[in-house]
Amino acid sequence: MVRALFVGRFQPLHRGHEEVIKWLLNQYEEVVVAIGSANESLTIRNPFTVGERIEMLVSTLRALNATHRVLYCSVPDTKGESALWYSYVREQCPSFDVAYTNDEFTRLCLEFGGVKVFNTPLFNRDLYSGTRIRELMANRDGRWRELVSPSVLEVLDRINAEDRVARLMKQKY
Ligand code: ATP
Ligand code: MG
Repeated sequence: MVRALFVGRFQPLHRGHEEVIKWLLNQYEEVVVAIGSANESLTIRNPFTVGERIEMLVSTLRALNATHRVLYCSVPDTKGESALWYSYVREQCPSFDVAYTNDEFTRLCLEFGGVKVFNTPLFNRDLYSGTRIRELMANRDGRWRELVSPSVLEVLDRINAEDRVARLMKQKY
């Protein structure tokens, strides 16, 4: 059995991430989703807790009927300490054979550890981007709602995500 690792922060988990997970499930028997920056929450860049991000992932996987083929774990941010970050990946993630990311820091850390790393295709990247979604939320512009799946939307509405992000962003100025 070949397992692929996919690393992201999922702030929030959007349709682009969902397309990547589906794309990986078409090629691999199992996928390990690692939720990065797990120790950060209620910040502008990382508004959602790791628990909330797990809820977004699990409700997405249920809608895809894929819970039995996806394992997940969390990895803290080590603020550039790459060897430490890689150690966390090894300790806290289920084992995997190959990894997928488009993030250069993530790629370099994994490659230093000897992992084979590939890029994923980008799915509608102009629209599906965590930064863009958080910006729309900050402006209380409901167009972000189209950029996540209904299962993620249910979680985000339950936790008043738009209000949280708007309040966090307001604090900046
Ligand atoms: P942010 O803008 O907050 O960095 P993001 O949309 O880049 O959010 P991340 O959680 O940082 O999301 O990304 C995790 C992984 O998902 C990265 O490898 C990234 O390239 C990939 N990814 C993000 N958006 C898309 C997309 N639309 N299509 C394919 N891959 C994507
Ligand atoms: Mg990113």
